Amino acid sequence: MLWAVPGPLASRWYSMRRAQSTKPATYRCPLCGRRLPALSEHTLLFPEGQAQGRRHAHTACVLAARRDGRLLTREEFARTQPRPPSLLARIRARLAR
Ligand SMILES: [Zn+2]
Repeated sequence: MLWAVPGPLASRWYSMRRAQSTKPATYRCPLCGRRLPALSEHTLLFPEGQAQGRRHAHTACVLAARRDGRLLTREEFARTQPRPPSLLARIRARLAR
């Protein structure tokens, strides 16, 4: 479970970037559930890099979630995945048969 809010928001990894808007909108931070004025500097989260489903979050909440390991980047997620055997390992396995 990488996302604080369960459901369709849950994603294995996120790309993120700083954001600040001139729109007079208010978002709800998906990490703490509190309001987030678009005018304040904050962080945009893209689930698995997708613009669709992106969320606006407090930068402090993002930093805390990153520290706790709840919000992984693509590279961090990839490191948790098993790697396929190398070519040499596959040749050795074939010769051992
Ligand atoms: Zn927040």
